[in-house]
Amino acid sequence: MKPLSLEFDRAVSSLDRLPAPALPETALLGRSNVGKSSLINTVGRNRKLARMSRDPGRTRTLNFYQGDGLILVDLPGYGYAKAPEAERRRWGRLVEGYLENRENLVAGLLVLDVRRVPGEQDGIMRGWLARREVPFLAVATKADKVSRGAALVAARTIRKTLDLTEEQVLLFSAKTGAGREKLTGWIRSASER
Ligand code: GDP
Repeated sequence: MKPLSLEFDRAVSSLDRLPAPALPETALLGRSNVGKSSLINTVGRNRKLARMSRDPGRTRTLNFYQGDGLILVDLPGYGYAKAPEAERRRWGRLVEGYLENRENLVAGLLVLDVRRVPGEQDGIMRGWLARREVPFLAVATKADKVSRGAALVAARTIRKTLDLTEEQVLLFSAKTGAGREKLTGWIRSASER
């Protein structure tokens, strides 16, 4: 499976600035610092495609990456404890608004840290994706940071906590490339339907 030929397209800071729906879009959701940028760089051809955030919580825009007839939309990360209430409300309107109304949304990736039990916010995101009735995967990233056995236990915990099927949980590592082929294939086929 060839990597996706993605290029950075645009950053969007409000719903009224969304580009006209064109290609099928796969949304990435996850806590700040979970590894979404690294994931995009790994499934894309370009290792430096998504700037890896040094300052968690800084990324407040929807970032569009386009190529091979599809688009990945990196939604702003959540769970940044220090964010003021107004900021969090703005985040909610932006992300929920996108997920609820975007007509060319075809799939979702809920990105999780393999070392953490999914939290309340992850559960809420799972609910938003389910409500849209688009296929989605939970991607347990940083799998290189734990043993194979621990990764399998984590995958099961994720499945049970978020009420998913076995096929909906994918172990992934941006460092070793584990899960990359599977994820690339999944995104391609979700975008073809
Ligand atoms: P984002 O905020 O969700 O976009 O997260 P980043 O992609 O910027 O990653 C946050 C930090 O986790 C960075 O220091 C990355 O190098 C690291 N990281 C991301 N994915 C992996 C992975 O699969 N394995 C390891 N070991 N580190 C990772």
